Amino acid sequence: MRPLLPFILLHLCATLALADDSETPKLLPIPDKLVVLTFDDCNKSDRTFVADLVKEHAFGATFYITEGLGFLKSKENYMTWKEIRELHDMGFEIGNHTKAHRNVTKLTKEALSKSLDHIDTRCAENGIPRPITFCFPGFSHNLSAVEVLMTKKVFTFARRGIRPEFEDGGRGGLGPAYNPKLDHPLLVPTTWYSGPESGTDDLKKAVAKAKDGKITVLCYHGVPAIEHPWVNTDPEVFKEQLQFLKDHGCTVIAMRDLKKYVDPTNRPEDPYAQIEQRKQR
Ligand SMILES: [Zn+2]
Repeated sequence: MRPLLPFILLHLCATLALADDSETPKLLPIPDKLVVLTFDDCNKSDRTFVADLVKEHAFGATFYITEGLGFLKSKENYMTWKEIRELHDMGFEIGNHTKAHRNVTKLTKEALSKSLDHIDTRCAENGIPRPITFCFPGFSHNLSAVEVLMTKKVFTFARRGIRPEFEDGGRGGLGPAYNPKLDHPLLVPTTWYSGPESGTDDLKKAVAKAKDGKITVLCYHGVPAIEHPWVNTDPEVFKEQLQFLKDHGCTVIAMRDLKKYVDPTNRPEDPYAQIEQRKQR
């Protein structure tokens, strides 16, 4: 009788190798003009104005949801969960922006963890998948918060603001482009956020940075931002800006879609190394 064991082992190895191959994510090359589009804070205009317009342009986008700020008090200026669900149904990404929009650097790890879980629960109650990307409220971040995100396992990418590499007067501004080879995926910088002091010219400068493997990340608050005029965007200006992205040939995606181009499990050992290097430059 021929010994069967070597054949069985060989077959098993071949099968495992195949399974391995099929699970390796095939990443797309990062094209120039790749732009991530995000909207923070649940402003009513996300549903009543922004979503339809973004959809008309066939762009992807992420809406970062919090029950903080005026969410629980003013349904005139903030979306309802029904409206948030509609954004999901339209194909947009719903991201986690914490329960109460507190500065995460002032929270214990446990409090931040609970705040994240709250949004997960509310999403589940409303038939929305558990968010896999995060946005730091008020753009504040630190290592402790990044560690909490890591313990959650579910998060692929997290967006911060333009600080500390760029100065931030809080009324819109430019930041670094996201360099997936160097930046930690849970500290993706904002390349530009809209506000009264930073308009279409700065948007164009930000988009010009989306080349040679770097990705531009855009952040809007309300269009208009009724309760937060310091990060307001005028609806007519917003229309022009979307038209610019279209005419310029940008690929405009939600934050979650970064994983088509970037392996989020490939994380630098020191999350802040790249930020420190940029600051020194
Ligand atoms: Zn926010």
